Amino acid sequence: MIKTDILIIGAGPTGLFTVFEAGLLKLKCHLIDALPQAGGQCSEIYPKKPIYDIPAYPEILAGDLTDKLLEQCKQFEPGFTLGERAETIDKQEDGTFIVTTNKGTKHQAPVVAIAGGLGSFEPRKPLLENITDYEDKGVEYIIKDPEIYRNKKVIIAGGGDSALDWSIFLSDVASEVTLIHRRNEFRGHLDSVEKVQELKNQGKIELITPAEVVGLEGDNKIQALLIKKEDETIKKECDHFVPLFGLSPKLGPIANWGLEIEKNAIKVNNALDYQTNIPGIFAIGDVNTYPGKLKLILCGFHEATLMCQAAYQIINPGKRYVLKYTTVSGVDGFDGTRKEAPKAVVKKIE
Ligand SMILES: Cc1cc2nc3c(=O)[nH]c(=O)nc-3n(C[C@H](O)[C@H](O)[C@H](O)COP(=O)(O)OP(=O)(O)OC[C@H]3O[C@@H](n4cnc5c(N)ncnc54)[C@H](O)[C@@H]3O)c2cc1C
Repeated sequence: MIKTDILIIGAGPTGLFTVFEAGLLKLKCHLIDALPQAGGQCSEIYPKKPIYDIPAYPEILAGDLTDKLLEQCKQFEPGFTLGERAETIDKQEDGTFIVTTNKGTKHQAPVVAIAGGLGSFEPRKPLLENITDYEDKGVEYIIKDPEIYRNKKVIIAGGGDSALDWSIFLSDVASEVTLIHRRNEFRGHLDSVEKVQELKNQGKIELITPAEVVGLEGDNKIQALLIKKEDETIKKECDHFVPLFGLSPKLGPIANWGLEIEKNAIKVNNALDYQTNIPGIFAIGDVNTYPGKLKLILCGFHEATLMCQAAYQIINPGKRYVLKYTTVSGVDGFDGTRKEAPKAVVKKIE
């Protein structure tokens, strides 16, 4: 049994920042994530994309943001159960919760913070009979490392931001980039649509629209796609096929925990502390909903900070916590390290 103060489900940016804020209050955290690495959407979906709206970072790659969050919370020695999905939750007589994963690992804590984002990641796959035969053999639904496409022939399918952005990015990496969409219109940022138009005009991206992939061919790995364009079916050789049709948001097992759910998100009390309808269980970051909710990283950070104050009260009933600035109090890690601003010196000026 893994025991901790705050059990965090989801090691995305919200979950990671929770560790830091909890650490300032001397509360220990353990994180569970279904993915094999921390970082949530930032590391799984868009690690190489720059984010422009993180306070004080004019630009930061999503992967680098994850690294920095991990570095920031390291002092508070979080525990991790990675590659396991939280399946069940049981309230104990003493008020604590036991959360068990799909692999049977048990965790116990007085406070549970669900930072599950979009839930377990499930990419929408095209309905092609033999597509599973080519998964990880040239067919990828998420681009993790663009370098694998260097000097390769890549066909991307999709009509949203991911398809547009990756086509633009890979036009400098791959030997050939083809973008296929079933409509002539794309639903993405105007800048991205215009950039793809420009790259098409320069011959750096081939656009096939309105068209649909209807067949996959290759021995052991993908070698060609059959593409239906109007009444014609064409065969196009490729080394990689990347259908980017988005992720279907699925809360997964959390949806059966007796929490109030609205449109696939957990309802919380945003006037106070982001607690759910079950006392002791909080929901923060993309996974929650309340009037005016914005699914942004910085909103998750804010919610995590307020949630930790409420968790402190549950764990230390009756004890008053006086907010201290880190510039004044410094930061004492659980690993014995201390960060503090240089002390003022007293020295005579003659
Ligand atoms: C392409 C793209 C670009 C974006 N750009 C920006 C941007 O510029 N600025 C911005 O602010 N936001 C941006 N976002 C949104 C941002 O990534 C999210 O707001 C942020 O990731 C939410 O963080 P989170 O920690 O709440 O959830 P997530 O990052 O979704 O992490 C949740 C984690 O919980 C895990 N999980 C879920 N259920 C379980 C379970 N039952 N058991 C175990 N683990 C579980 C998941 O595996 C996941 O790792 C972008 C998103 C995308 C897809």
